[in-house]
Amino acid sequence: MTTHFIYQAHPSRVVFGAGVLQQLPAEIAQLGATRALVLCTPQQRASAERVAALLGSRCAGIFAQAQMHVPLETAQAARAEARRLGADCAVAIGGGSTTGLGKAIALDSGLPILAVPTTYAGSEMTPIYGLTDAGVKKTGRDARVLPKTVLYDPELSLTLPLGLSITSALNAVAHGAEGLYAPDTNPVIALMAEEGIRACTAALPRLQADPHDLAARSDLLQGAWLCGIVLGATTMGLHHKLCHTLGGSFNLPHAEVHTVVLPHALAYNAAQAPQAMARIARALGVAADAPGGAPAALHALAQRLGAPTALRDIGMPEGGLDRAADLAVTTPYPNPRPLERAALRALLQRAFEGAAPA
Ligand code: NAD
Repeated sequence: MTTHFIYQAHPSRVVFGAGVLQQLPAEIAQLGATRALVLCTPQQRASAERVAALLGSRCAGIFAQAQMHVPLETAQAARAEARRLGADCAVAIGGGSTTGLGKAIALDSGLPILAVPTTYAGSEMTPIYGLTDAGVKKTGRDARVLPKTVLYDPELSLTLPLGLSITSALNAVAHGAEGLYAPDTNPVIALMAEEGIRACTAALPRLQADPHDLAARSDLLQGAWLCGIVLGATTMGLHHKLCHTLGGSFNLPHAEVHTVVLPHALAYNAAQAPQAMARIARALGVAADAPGGAPAALHALAQRLGAPTALRDIGMPEGGLDRAADLAVTTPYPNPRPLERAALRALLQRAFEGAAPA
């Protein structure tokens, strides 16, 4: 069989390592910028103040109102603040919500974004943005929103609570896993996906043993970086669509939903994506023909890590499962196995109850 593919890399500069936050002023200068607006959530204001102190006169101000799913009003307020302060770049320090706010500013103004990720969500590697208007989240792709520079400093993730560290890393694993069977996957992306899954899943038990293990944090951030590249370069399938629907329509926490749904979505697709499953199994260190294969191994890993495995434990109402199944088949999207409503409804029931993937 011959191979055909297109590989489109997204240009960004990555500075990686414990303590690299100290290089922020030099990296702002490298962008040709002189007045940075610092973005964060209200919870991470102290980190933003540290950044502001590092930047000194290169800091235009702090906007500390980032929140999940980028409400349009928040984006508009941040854009107005950037204009008012005459900012010529933005520094987003935080998780996917804060990076998302930076992207909303860039989409409107073209301001360069420098991202300092403190979770493993991977948004900093993608040209994908999301904006929520009147409760409806719209996503799109635009090259302008891709951060120009990313500082990955594992010291900054030491404060991420263990539970969120685990679910956030499994969120990264989900990008890698679906990238392996995406219609636009390719050999380079597959290498990154497999290594990203391996790095994250091998580091998680070490992190569980010691949440302050900086080497484990470093491995997780490298894995998250690789999985973020995969997310940005490919078209995600069933798993990401289900999580988008569940998160958006039932307001469930992002990383936790990914953690619960992933083994079930992979089991749904397993028979139609044997090569992807073999690579995921190899990344997890299990035999491809082990009972239940990669989906069962991921489910078992989540259980060992004490991560949530049931939608009912993270706020999903059982009465919403029918609607979630309807929504999952409304807009078509590429997926190895065709979308069958009855089978998806059964998948959602198992995920709701925390049953083993089937
Ligand atoms: P998040 O950014 O919402 O952060 C969750 C909470 O953890 C926040 O309160 C935050 O302040 C806090 N936090 C983050 N890092 C911390 C740290 N090191 N120490 C202490 N607290 C910390 O969560 P997330 O999972 O990173 O991002 C989820 C959002 O990102 C969702 O809206 C999702 O849709 C979006 N996302 C977008 C993309 C994309 O490509 N556009 C990719 C992944 C996620």
